[in-house]
Amino acid sequence: MNTNKLQTPCFVLDQRDVVDNIKEFQNALSSFFPQSVISYSVKTNSLPYILKLVKEQGCYAEVVSYNEYNFAVRIGFPKEHIVYNGPMKSKETFLDAVRHHSIVNIETWREIEWLQELPREETFEVGVRLNINISAISPEDENHPNDDSRFGFSYESGEWEEALARIAELKNVMVVGIHSHREPKTRSVSFYHNVISYVQDVIHEYNLKLKYWDLGGGFFGSMPGKPTYYEYAEVFYKTLSADLHDISIIVEPGNAVVASGFDYVMEVIDVKKHDGNIYICTDGTRNDVDPFFHKSDYFKEVIYQDEVGDVASQPQIVSGLSCLEYDRMFTLPAGERRLQPGDHIVLHRVGAYTMSLTPLFIHYFPVVYLKTSSDERPQIIREEWTEDEFLQKSIY
Ligand SMILES: *Cc1c(COP(=O)(O)O)cnc(C)c1O
Repeated sequence: MNTNKLQTPCFVLDQRDVVDNIKEFQNALSSFFPQSVISYSVKTNSLPYILKLVKEQGCYAEVVSYNEYNFAVRIGFPKEHIVYNGPMKSKETFLDAVRHHSIVNIETWREIEWLQELPREETFEVGVRLNINISAISPEDENHPNDDSRFGFSYESGEWEEALARIAELKNVMVVGIHSHREPKTRSVSFYHNVISYVQDVIHEYNLKLKYWDLGGGFFGSMPGKPTYYEYAEVFYKTLSADLHDISIIVEPGNAVVASGFDYVMEVIDVKKHDGNIYICTDGTRNDVDPFFHKSDYFKEVIYQDEVGDVASQPQIVSGLSCLEYDRMFTLPAGERRLQPGDHIVLHRVGAYTMSLTPLFIHYFPVVYLKTSSDERPQIIREEWTEDEFLQKSIY
């Protein structure tokens, strides 16, 4: 990529990558299922351009708060193409979504209460989220012992049965869907085998007549050596018992759709040398690309200004613009080529849980470009936030 014309720091979106991911996932699902839906997890990267792009590809929007629900409506998703999950629904948007045939998966007791306010003369459909304890159903995928979940109604505790019973009291509301989402770090194919086996036992025990099964997200995107969309779809189909083969399968990928489509570009602005290290200061920040502060390295590429350069005999600690000591992104070991002011560093595959979690700390949201061929002018799809955007709605 030619980064010369870019204002740094910035994100660069390769929209073809996102579209290819969606198409491949759609093809994989439709090789097995007569009906399937990809519902894009809005929280994973809520850049409006991305929402527009996934809508154009026929995806639904998966939202987990009243803000995201209103946002998806504003972007233009028909309400029946919105999957509404999570505890942070407002009563108003919850009832609006149920009445307009969104796919609404019940997460809290208060939502069951709210159902009573629906008009009695019409019938309505909802789904319910089932609690999944990874250690109990797929111990090889657990992140830690008793890898439990805060979400959904638990079968083992009796709350699942209680939730179904309370909904059944409402003669005008039918449970037509089940929602099961967990995100093990392994993202393994066998995890979905274990989840499906567990959930379908519950479906059979309660003799649920379902229209859809929302299998959640948690998938790898296309990446060498990792499970493919096809392998996930195949395990869904092979694990499902024959009586469930016609169910509509919904997946809610976030990471699998957007992670690979975004690069982050930063420029070296200063170099210092002391304590046995070379400290590289860039105009980027770890806040933009590692908001959970767990990464120690990246899929990275250095674009040197000069064609040749000497080798650094000390480690080069590549760090960010902020005043935080821990704003250090990665270390190049001794023996790598020396970085100099003006050099560019590109971090690849940084589209998931980065831009949507960036704090407005010291530096505001960076500019976002669309990837274009090297002779074209870079196209901006979100301008850099300045003090104007930061000040909006403040009273002072
Ligand atoms: C976050 C989330 C997703 C997306 O998860 P990925 O790992 O990014 O695919 C899907 N569904 C629900 C309910 C979520 O909370």
